[in-house]
Amino acid sequence: MQYLSTRGNSAPVSLSAAIAAGLAPDGGLYVPARMPPARAWQPSPTLAETAAQVLAPFFAGDPLAAALPAICAEALDIAVPLRRLGSGDDHLLELFHGPTAAFKDVGARFLAAALVRVRGDASQPLTIVVATSGDTGAAVAAAFHRQPGLRVVVLYPDGRVSPRQAHQLGCFGDNVQALRVAGTFDDCQAMVKQALADAGLQARVPLSSANSISLGRLLPQMTYYAHAALQHQAAGRPALNLVVPTGNLGNAMAAILARQIGLPLGRIVLATNANAVLPAFFEGGPWQPRGSIATLANAMDVGAPSNFERLRWLFGSDDAALRAAFQARAVDDGTIRATIAGLHARTGEVVCPHTATAVSVLQALREEGEQGDWAAVATAHPAKFESVVEPLIGAPVPVPASLATLLQRPAHAEPMAADYAALRAYLLAAP
Ligand SMILES: *Cc1c(COP(=O)(O)O)cnc(C)c1O
Repeated sequence: MQYLSTRGNSAPVSLSAAIAAGLAPDGGLYVPARMPPARAWQPSPTLAETAAQVLAPFFAGDPLAAALPAICAEALDIAVPLRRLGSGDDHLLELFHGPTAAFKDVGARFLAAALVRVRGDASQPLTIVVATSGDTGAAVAAAFHRQPGLRVVVLYPDGRVSPRQAHQLGCFGDNVQALRVAGTFDDCQAMVKQALADAGLQARVPLSSANSISLGRLLPQMTYYAHAALQHQAAGRPALNLVVPTGNLGNAMAAILARQIGLPLGRIVLATNANAVLPAFFEGGPWQPRGSIATLANAMDVGAPSNFERLRWLFGSDDAALRAAFQARAVDDGTIRATIAGLHARTGEVVCPHTATAVSVLQALREEGEQGDWAAVATAHPAKFESVVEPLIGAPVPVPASLATLLQRPAHAEPMAADYAALRAYLLAAP
């Protein structure tokens, strides 16, 4: 399988090359030259086995193909239970049982396992630079910690991530360094972009990124949808419909790709927070990215969802067909709060603010008479957002064991000015 850029101005590359590069040279996102044809899939007992099967067509002909089962076994040793929510046909697809308690662990761990093998015995280490507003940086730091030949530098806006998130970013050490930047997330991202575009720097310090547009993160996210859908079908249930909390559209895009290759998924509905760029488009408006606004579901505070380029590619730029195929609904902060409190009062179930957007949209669909089996996708553990959740439910949220272990380690982050020259000097000096 070869990979092309969504913008059509880059040469076709192998999967290994696309994973190593992240972004295509013309600024587009890598997509398969053609989607594998839809087919019937067999249920497997574990996520890793399902993944090796479902991802095989995407790895066909690549130097990494032989290593795919080992990459899956190493990276995808994570539970992804589909649990009944209450007494009807509503479910939660829990994707937060990885080391940092968010779904991003799945993609980050797979990317790390793939990159280690792509790099082989390269003479110089590869430095992954990431800007984060919380979840991404923690998942990448955990996934790349102590991976040979790879170093991670995480930039986060000082004072603008929760204390628990800051601790998670700074607690790894070894080949993972955290920089607390005196600025905003946008400042951090601009510094990272400048570093990635700095050819003089790259000649001395090979750099790559690990953001959500990377194929190495997108492809493995198909696997938990595949696993849940096949298990559900094997239990004699109808096709599973999904509501996916959406920011950059990476997680939902993976669900759409999984359905495209024949996995038994029904409708896929997108839930956003008050950053309603996708709902505005699906309701018939033009595609109009904007600046992001801050909400309680902060990992979804995205005003310009980058994976939209992949969605348009999949539909051959036919916006009418695209609008007919999907629905997106926005959920404001007041509704997020009411959903967390209401769900807890009715069922005892506690969800994070991101998951609450999907639960709220699912509740609205049911009130409109929607039938069938549905799952709201649970993207993070509520203990990561305790300052929002605990006052709403009036009780502490127990911290999962893997997260508790991280929070017990000492943490350290270097202060840095929001200035590219400071980052450049740091990257050149650090081991
Ligand atoms: C990143 C994130 C999202 C949004 O996922 P996208 O792939 O960017 O759409 C939702 N919830 C949580 C908890 C996240 O960390």
